[in-house]
Amino acid sequence: MNFLSQEALFIIRELEKNGFEAFAVGGCVRDYLMGTGVNDYDITSNASTDEIKAVFSACKTIDTGIKHGTVTVLVNNIPFEITTYRLETTYSDNRHPDNVIFTKNLEEDLSRRDFTVNSIAYCPDKGFVDLYNGRDDIANKVIRCVGNPEERFKEDSLRILRGLRFASVLDFTVEEKTKNAMLSCRKLIKNISKERIFSELSRLLCGKNVKAILTEYADIFGEIIPEINKMKGFDQHNFHHIYDVLTHTAVVTESTPQVLHLRLAALFHDSGKPCCFSLDETGTGHFYSHASKSALIAEKRLADLRCDNKTKDAVIKLVKLHDTPIEESERIVKRRLASMGSELFFDLISLKRADTAGLAPEFSARNKHFDRLEEMARDILEKEECFSLKHLAVNGNDLKLLGLNGREIGQGLDFLLGAVIDGKVNNKKEELIAYLKSDIMPNL
Ligand code: ATP
Ligand code: MG
Repeated sequence: MNFLSQEALFIIRELEKNGFEAFAVGGCVRDYLMGTGVNDYDITSNASTDEIKAVFSACKTIDTGIKHGTVTVLVNNIPFEITTYRLETTYSDNRHPDNVIFTKNLEEDLSRRDFTVNSIAYCPDKGFVDLYNGRDDIANKVIRCVGNPEERFKEDSLRILRGLRFASVLDFTVEEKTKNAMLSCRKLIKNISKERIFSELSRLLCGKNVKAILTEYADIFGEIIPEINKMKGFDQHNFHHIYDVLTHTAVVTESTPQVLHLRLAALFHDSGKPCCFSLDETGTGHFYSHASKSALIAEKRLADLRCDNKTKDAVIKLVKLHDTPIEESERIVKRRLASMGSELFFDLISLKRADTAGLAPEFSARNKHFDRLEEMARDILEKEECFSLKHLAVNGNDLKLLGLNGREIGQGLDFLLGAVIDGKVNNKKEELIAYLKSDIMPNL
């Protein structure tokens, strides 16, 4: 059995020819054993970085992390990270090893790896080196720390989120001791940089097992987004709902397409509910203005996590609008398409569908309404009907020629677009100008 690409095999053989050991290790071995495609091969070797560079002197190399023993070698333009066998010593800040110690011993290198499923090495001559039964854990779909989980999370608390990310993406469960240590060490997450937290959280949210992870590990996510603590167990006292706010959120998240801004919108869409809650005299719960409150929470938390602006803006818009009804009228759909753009419009419908999946089952008929809205929008787009300024048969210059200036031009264009969408005037240049003259500019 040989799963190595031609280039990865070349790297291992070149190192071996020069008297070194070399193995493919980590994600590539795991993904191969799981039968999924291998993205990139990480190579581990007893050669030092200088020795690696000497072996590959004919190739382009990059000093990726010499201090940590990593050199990138390009073979056929494909980058391969080659890392010297190493051990990590004490971690005073729960994220950076105080020292990296290089070793000549593969066993020691494998012992510092995070999870058993990531600790399998492979080379063609020796086959799999699997000291921690990673293959069994892959077969049983289990995430388990190499060594003592609590110690491993205290060394590097990013591993908590990495473990949950693997469980979500690979659809694995977390072994009991590892799970308990994740929960008991959760406060250490604050020591990790926001960028790294957001990167792991993003991948985790896009995983297929996200519902179980969000609900079982809510206390961990509460360390990153404190509003999650209030959502957990929050009874909605409302006939629409069969779940508490957090479980509903988890179901909605898993029901959206696996795209980051949609998954984030789902995560935050009801985050403002606990602080907007009121009970009426019949004992029914209400959450007035929760959508705008949730949008504010999303804005604050995503900024804190250093989320890029494009993603953040899309999430805020979706969260703000997730609960606003959309009437099945061509005029309303056109206005929505104009105000938010077609992509975000379809995203909003996806979010609304997912939100319905998180309600009591008798509300599933709402999906027919969403089908019709999507159909109407597709129809408008296909027929290239006018719903935005770029379709309007007049532009700013035309209005300038009529004598409008500055802000008046924008206002005039918006006025005409609204009139076309509402069917008050045809989208023809002469008619638009005549309409404008007769209505808001009768003196022209
Ligand atoms: P993917 O590339 O899909 O994120 P991966 O397992 O390849 O998965 P990398 O971040 O590329 O993850 O790391 C490569 C390997 O390095 C891992 O498989 C693991 O053996 C080891 N590793 C990475 N990060 C850590 C960590 N924080 N603690 C211990 N070992 C780690
Ligand atoms: Mg990798």
